[in-house]
This record gives sequence, C-alpha cells and structure tokens, in this order.
Amino acid sequence: MELYSGPINKLIEELAALPGIGEKSASRLAFHLINMPKGKVERLARTILEAKEKVCYCRECYTLTDEDICPVCANEKRDHSTIMVVENSRDLAAYEKTGKYTGVYHVLHGAISPMLGVGPGDIKLKELIERLSSDEIKEVIIATNSSLEGETTAMYINKLIKPTGIRVTRIASGVPVGGDLECIDEVTLLRALEGRTEL
Ligand code: ZN
Repeated sequence: MELYSGPINKLIEELAALPGIGEKSASRLAFHLINMPKGKVERLARTILEAKEKVCYCRECYTLTDEDICPVCANEKRDHSTIMVVENSRDLAAYEKTGKYTGVYHVLHGAISPMLGVGPGDIKLKELIERLSSDEIKEVIIATNSSLEGETTAMYINKLIKPTGIRVTRIASGVPVGGDLECIDEVTLLRALEGRTEL
C-alpha cells in the first residue's frame, strides 16, 4: 500500500540511499523538506549542485578542493618529502585540525575491501605510486583506519613501496580498532602519529 504520494515516496527513497540515513530518518527529513519555505529548499538544492560542480580532486594529493592544487599542497612551508596516506578527505581534516602535522597528504578515497569488491584499482593507489617517483619523497606514513579494510590497504601499500627504499611507517594503534580517524580526538591522533612504527 502506498502510504504517501509518489513524489514524497521518491524523495524518501533518495534520502534513504544516503549513507547513515535509515528509512525513519529519511521520511523525517522528507517531511521536513516539504514543510520548508520554497526559497529555503531552492537554496539547499542550489548549494548541493554548486558543491558538486565546483569541488574537484587536488592535482597532487587528490583531496577534495575547489582549486587546482589544495591549500596544503600549495603551502611551501609544508614538508613535501613526507606523505601521509589517508582514506578520505575527512581523515585529512582530522589531522589538519591537530595543527601539528607539517607534511603533505595523499587521499585514497576508500580502502581495499575484497568483501565489498573494492580492489587496488578502485582507489587512488596508482596515483600515490606515481608521486613516489620524485626523489623528493623520504617517508610515507600510512594512516588508514585500523579496520580490516584499512589494515589490508596498509599491507598492500607497504608491499608496493618497500622495494623503492622509501621509508614506510604506520601510525600506532592508539587509534581504536575499527575506529574512523575523523571520530578520534586530537591527542589520540597525535599520539598515533608520534608512535608510528616502521613497516
Ligand atoms: Zn593537495
């Protein structure tokens, strides 16, 4: 039985397809949107479209940015010989918030997951290896999450980089197992960075 009219059902369906939004939240949001003044809905829709159109990958580290080169990569004061590899731009933001990391980043946009069918070719790994061909790179810090996928990715990257002679380290497991970097407090993040170990 169709409880609501077609367009509302469609809206609920679209919202429920977003990560972290279940059926209940989706219908709550849908009804909230329907009850909002038209101008506000238009502004929200425009903001989503604009973000989608203007945001692209940084040419160097592949984080999301609205410029050709992101502010971190463009900063000459940063240590461009140290690359921290993270799973997504939110993890990068978490480390940036500590204000203590002076190197640059590489954003993979995912992690290897045989279970979900995500292979090495589906994340920005080839792009990382390409960056390493520059003599400038002295250390790669692998800061993927401590989930099964994060660990699998870390091992895979280590195997790829080891033969090049570049130092490869892994952040310490002060980060709780399975924990998303973005949810962890700054002190723990810094401790994980300082306690990184050679791979
Ligand atoms: Zn960048």
